[in-house]
Amino acid sequence: MITPDTKDWTWVLERACPDCGFDTPEVDAERVADLVRANAAAWVALLAERPEAALRSRPVPEVWSDLEYACHVRDVFRLFRVRLGLMLDEQDPLFANWDQDETAVAERYGEQDPARVSAELAEAAEELAAAFDRVEGGQWQRPGRRSDGARFTVASFARYLIHDPVHHLYDVTEGRPHDLTGPPLSRSAGRSPATPQPNRPVRRGARPEGRAGPPRRARTRRPARCGR
Ligand SMILES: [Zn+2]
Repeated sequence: MITPDTKDWTWVLERACPDCGFDTPEVDAERVADLVRANAAAWVALLAERPEAALRSRPVPEVWSDLEYACHVRDVFRLFRVRLGLMLDEQDPLFANWDQDETAVAERYGEQDPARVSAELAEAAEELAAAFDRVEGGQWQRPGRRSDGARFTVASFARYLIHDPVHHLYDVTEGRPHDLTGPPLSRSAGRSPATPQPNRPVRRGARPEGRAGPPRRARTRRPARCGR
């Protein structure tokens, strides 16, 4: 059982992520296409290098496996391609809700074939990158809305998007299980749970507390709430 993450990640548009270090506000939206391609290449390499058993293994029962994260990233690329199309084709579209946790279960992420996931991730990334390559001029300012009220332009949407696969790549390359049991690497006074709790399972990339105060740095890993 993975506990859904309901925190809002739009703060990444305003400051660097204390977990993965990615400085979203500094990203030029016109670079996002190349960042998507670079990120996808790293996932493809990871999926090729690690043994299948390792890819399918969850560090702890409550944390997604590398394969599950790769499936999630593939689906984020696909979802954001659709949403980018809506922003370019419609006036201020309202995005349909996407529940990333329901999708992970319904699509049986953990049972998918790593080689196929790798190919699909690469294809989805290239389609998204190519779509961003075609954005020009005033299109960067076209608006769109998420179902929770968050508002984006194509430019902020691009910056928001790229943090997610970058963060998850960090999750599967840096946030190894031993970090889950260490003390929170906190820059704030707040403390996050340092270990997964039986009744409150956690995933990689623990969520800072929204917009209130500095984000917490903890290695109780959860995927980003990127899909709403
Ligand atoms: Zn991050």
